[in-house]
Amino acid sequence: MTKRSQPITNAITGLSSLLRSTARPQAIFALLIAILLVAAPGAASLASATEHPSAFRAGASWAAAAPSGNNGFAGRLHAPWGLGQQPLPANAIDPTQTAHTIFQVSTINALLEGAYDGLITFGELRKHGDFGLGTFDTLDGEMVELDGKVYQIRSDGAVYPVPDTMTSPFAAITFFKADQTVVLDKPLTWNELEGYLDSLLPTGNIPYALRIDGEFEHIVARSVPSQSKPYLKLVDVVGGQSTFEFQNVKGTMVALRFPQYMDGLNVAGYHFHFIAQDRKAGGHVLRADLSDATIQIDNLYGFQMYLPDGGDFFSLDLTGDKGQDIVRVEQ
Ligand SMILES: [Zn+2]
Repeated sequence: MTKRSQPITNAITGLSSLLRSTARPQAIFALLIAILLVAAPGAASLASATEHPSAFRAGASWAAAAPSGNNGFAGRLHAPWGLGQQPLPANAIDPTQTAHTIFQVSTINALLEGAYDGLITFGELRKHGDFGLGTFDTLDGEMVELDGKVYQIRSDGAVYPVPDTMTSPFAAITFFKADQTVVLDKPLTWNELEGYLDSLLPTGNIPYALRIDGEFEHIVARSVPSQSKPYLKLVDVVGGQSTFEFQNVKGTMVALRFPQYMDGLNVAGYHFHFIAQDRKAGGHVLRADLSDATIQIDNLYGFQMYLPDGGDFFSLDLTGDKGQDIVRVEQ
């Protein structure tokens, strides 16, 4: 399903230089991986660099160089860049905002290995999305971004505002734009939740952002304490995690779901964080039973990954399957 062609190199080169130009100069080399997830035959587009003319050039050159006539690929690519000849395909990525694109810092496997040094400021990160989850420099708590506001739930259970100067070693965010909204007409237990959400998805083969607003009959969340060097691996840190339990609390779950084939880049399957409506509690969700809720689902067709240009990341052993570690850390 993934289409690759020579012109994609042009697009990636252009977008990489864009990201490099916006990064903290001493810390970041931006690698941009673009995966085209083609939901409908021939309907592919990619242009996900926020508010920057070079992305438009990269996209345009890609469109111009793409072979035409065999599947409608090139013709459809023109639409997002303003020629206006055809309606946007369902998976068109808004070139001004990166809607339907996930922007990710580092990888889950690097975090599992203890890469907790912040790589990008929240000021920069927020340019790439208004919704998502992650963590903070030194692994200092669970991160929720909702409606463009970033919250830090520390291991004391309290929620702190996040200044733009704070940094993140791992985060995945998007400009949330719901493709479907479902209002629950019955309670849903934790054991039923993932199966029910799966039943709403058009495919398991693309990532999703999910926003679940409602009342939670019971919720168990956790947070992790700030670490100092030499960093322990995440499986060893979660032994000292704090858990918080709430009954009948209103709030929002911010969730991502990645397909199995992206295991290692991010958490394959669902990953839920929670923030209470009064913004005074939250965390990484270990269990949630919903009394009632509105579920919004955003289909994601683009994926950008941002990696450090040195530091601990370069010496990590990122080979091998860390699936068992992820299970221990997430649950
Ligand atoms: Zn989490």
